[in-house]
Amino acid sequence: MTTMRALSAFTTAELDAMDAMEAGLQEKWPTRGIVTGSIYAPDCDENPFPGKYSVEITCVDCGAVRRIATQDLFQVERCKECAKKHQRRNRSKNRLAKKSSPVALAARRARLEAELAALDAVSSREIEEMEDMEADAALGAGVSAE
Ligand SMILES: [Zn+2]
Repeated sequence: MTTMRALSAFTTAELDAMDAMEAGLQEKWPTRGIVTGSIYAPDCDENPFPGKYSVEITCVDCGAVRRIATQDLFQVERCKECAKKHQRRNRSKNRLAKKSSPVALAARRARLEAELAALDAVSSREIEEMEDMEADAALGAGVSAE
């Protein structure tokens, strides 16, 4: 287990090394807007990601600052709120694309045609049954003396 240390307990050499590491990350991920001086060591007690380096990034959509583990830099570029919105947008876009693809449309048409055929079969059977009932009623009216 790592012992957590206060930020003030870090030596100048350690802080310099972290600054260098942060500069390297800024170079590797120029679009993440990594906030200079935001890096925390894995054993810094202010780090909400113990055991991992973390930095603050600037959301590409709204500019809000969010702290993330450096190992997530490859996949995180938004604050939590914008990430959620982005996901929702993507999902509905994908759903729409799926719905309107030629294969999906052909399948939908086939399903609707099958439903229509089934409805036709039912209604013509019902019409026949009603005609039979009417015929029976006409017969019955003649026979029964009510
Ligand atoms: Zn945002």
